[in-house]
Amino acid sequence: MAVRDEKLLIGGAWLPAESGETFETRNPATGEVLARIARGTAGDVDRAVDAARRAFEEGPWPRFSPADRQKLILGLADLLERDAEQFARLDTLEMGSPIRHTRGSVAMLVDLLRYFAGIARSVEGTTNRPSDPGTFACTVKEPVGVCGAIIPWNGPLWASVLKLGPVLASGCTLVLKPAEDASLAPLRLAELALEAGVPAGVFNVVTGFGAEAGAALAAHSGVDKIAFTGSEATGRRIVQASAGNLKRLSLELGGKSPNIVFADADLEAAAKTAVIAAFANSGQVCSAGTRLFVERAVHREFAAEVARIAGTLKIGDGLDPETDLGPLVSARQLERVCGHMDDALAAGAAPLSGGGRLSGAAYDKGFFFPPTVLVEARDDMRAVREEIFGPILATLPFDSEDEVIARANATEFGLGAGVWTSHLGRAHRMARALKAGSVWVNCYNRIDPAVPSGGIKASGHGREYGRQHVEEHFQTKSIWIDTTV
Ligand code: ADP
Repeated sequence: MAVRDEKLLIGGAWLPAESGETFETRNPATGEVLARIARGTAGDVDRAVDAARRAFEEGPWPRFSPADRQKLILGLADLLERDAEQFARLDTLEMGSPIRHTRGSVAMLVDLLRYFAGIARSVEGTTNRPSDPGTFACTVKEPVGVCGAIIPWNGPLWASVLKLGPVLASGCTLVLKPAEDASLAPLRLAELALEAGVPAGVFNVVTGFGAEAGAALAAHSGVDKIAFTGSEATGRRIVQASAGNLKRLSLELGGKSPNIVFADADLEAAAKTAVIAAFANSGQVCSAGTRLFVERAVHREFAAEVARIAGTLKIGDGLDPETDLGPLVSARQLERVCGHMDDALAAGAAPLSGGGRLSGAAYDKGFFFPPTVLVEARDDMRAVREEIFGPILATLPFDSEDEVIARANATEFGLGAGVWTSHLGRAHRMARALKAGSVWVNCYNRIDPAVPSGGIKASGHGREYGRQHVEEHFQTKSIWIDTTV
């Protein structure tokens, strides 16, 4: 198959990068080159931001009514539904996630777009009551302006739709910088947006590297808001880069989420879900439940059951419908995960399953790492403190509710947390005591268009999904009228 050259989308036109340079994107299961991607740099970001500014201020987009925007988003959702299989395959090919998983994701994203379409119609200001009876005051919501989005590779279509939906619902415009390891689905989404009738310049895509295109977008004085999803280290750089024009920021960063199992829980359900919580998408999920706290009385048995279930997962090429776990996204990611594994072993942790890179004919061309369940882990080990973004789960025994709350919260992160118990009062107490943006009781990693999701502490701020997500794309203007004249 001929390898295609992908271009940038700027102001409704597909253009090569100013530098003329490209880089390859590969299938992490086979090493096969999938496409050459345009290597966008600061000059391309300038052009894209200019186009987004023009589209925001002039032309048809500012005249779109909420009803027009709703119709546009619903049209885009229909096109995504039409091409669902193609999108699922694209994400699987480029980042390795099993096709069953990517199919499920596309269906959810169609629903998410339809949710945003509804919100587009229902944004409201207020009528206020100043003390002075001779004045009238009200607030109106106005779109923030040109938005930049910098997204990771662990769910390329997911992140693109999640950034684009609220932009379209609010009347903002967008410059999207996909991750260098996963540009294909975002680019194809841009094609669909044009087909749906999104006006030129409303949605621009500049592919390229983080230190080049990403850094230029974060620092750009013409960008009013940046939404970033990615690592904590890069998040810190984005905060610094954005200081120039004090742009609005929303950050969805890493996690080291606790999943806490009390002995009174439905242990069978807890074990099954603990495996999915830690290993879905090969652990490349920011809210992965990677610190599995288990009440000491059942710890050994529970850890063994989790390892047994993990051992039944079928690892392989994500395109195989039987595959439960695909490869890691890249050689670099595999190297990082192996580094954490070596560290954990050196520090005395013992694997009950997995424990090192998979080799053999089926695996050698790709970046496969098996689901690994550790015992003999301690809270202070690097693999237990730092986000790994790979399929390594540490099981940690605990003795009391107070103790596990303190240990679960003793992390710089605060994205998600799971609690398994059949005790109602304890469920409520734990949900309030855990310092995290989301707490799941007797379930894990539930996501829904209507429910906000996001982090606290070093996991970021701002919320995605839900009404609040769209509202973060508006600013409030207060209007005063002197009614005495
Ligand atoms: P990873 O290290 O796994 O690639 P990152 O958080 O660095 O995770 O990547 C998430 C996104 O951030 C990617 O789109 C990447 O290109 C981008 N990025 C990386 N470095 C920077 C930077 N200095 N400024 C802006 N964006 C960046």
